[in-house]
Amino acid sequence: MTQAILALHGGAGTIARQRMTADKERAYTDAIAAILDRGQALLAEGAAALDVVTRVVELLEDCPLFNAGHGAVYTSEATHELDAAIMDGRTLAAGAVAGVRSVRNPVLAARAVMLDSPYVLLAGEGADAFARERGLVLVDSAYYGTPERLEQLRRMQREGGMKLALDHDGADRVAQAAANSASAPLDPDSKHGTVGAVACDVHGHVAAASSTGGMTNKRPGRIGDTPIIGAGCYANDRTAAVAATGTGEAFMRGVAAYDVSALMEYAGLSLRQACERVIHEKMPALRGSGGLVAVNARGEVAMPFNTEGMYRGEVRPGSAPVVSIYR
Ligand code: ASP
Repeated sequence: MTQAILALHGGAGTIARQRMTADKERAYTDAIAAILDRGQALLAEGAAALDVVTRVVELLEDCPLFNAGHGAVYTSEATHELDAAIMDGRTLAAGAVAGVRSVRNPVLAARAVMLDSPYVLLAGEGADAFARERGLVLVDSAYYGTPERLEQLRRMQREGGMKLALDHDGADRVAQAAANSASAPLDPDSKHGTVGAVACDVHGHVAAASSTGGMTNKRPGRIGDTPIIGAGCYANDRTAAVAATGTGEAFMRGVAAYDVSALMEYAGLSLRQACERVIHEKMPALRGSGGLVAVNARGEVAMPFNTEGMYRGEVRPGSAPVVSIYR
């Protein structure tokens, strides 16, 4: 039997050391460890990788610390538009939604697109309508927001006009953010706060899922890499399952998640070599900052990032979760 594994990320970005406290750091590491525990239990029961990543991303969406679902960042018009994707490495089946505004858990909508429609990607009102028809839980858009996220938008608009930001970056804003009692170990103004999970189950099948509110102050209608199969999310049993976080435009231009798979399939690179090539060579050349988590069907894992930190963790059945933020 394969050595099953689950790995997840909660976004990458700049470390806000000045305002970091042990309590805040613990809030993040505890949240990640608790979610890894839930995923581990599923893996140990023999659950399919697809079901494990679905559940794990759902839990990350429900946690306000991360930029997905409850806690998603705001657009420039102080609204929310969420993106999510899921892919099954066993069959290459995939589903995604972009710009949804009323689905409580966008990853469940992405999964419904995959399992219950002839499509791969649904966007905007049509995606919300599809989720409604499929009986998914809908919410008022106020559900997504938090006071901290709104303040993050207002601060960015005061400072930078049309500037948009990843969810955990902005060392230049550290001083201001120091006053923010909700501040996090990674600077919330510059962090890429997307969430993602990858898993290899006991049968040696892999799957990946990603979900995000996108980038703070993004123009309504902007779609990043997260719901684009091959850019922010990809899974193939023959190579790897990959979930990325970072400057979406660069990850799309570099077809980052698929590039990991292609480097393994066509150039014979190992999982680690392929992930490092993409994150440390290819993305910087496109001015892409961020990272990814990846596993293969042998249960190997890689979690490279080119930012100062990335909220991340991994767990295998029978062993304790390992959670990290910094290098
Ligand atoms: N990749 C996401 C996007 O561009 C942002 C993130 O990872 O935080 O929408």
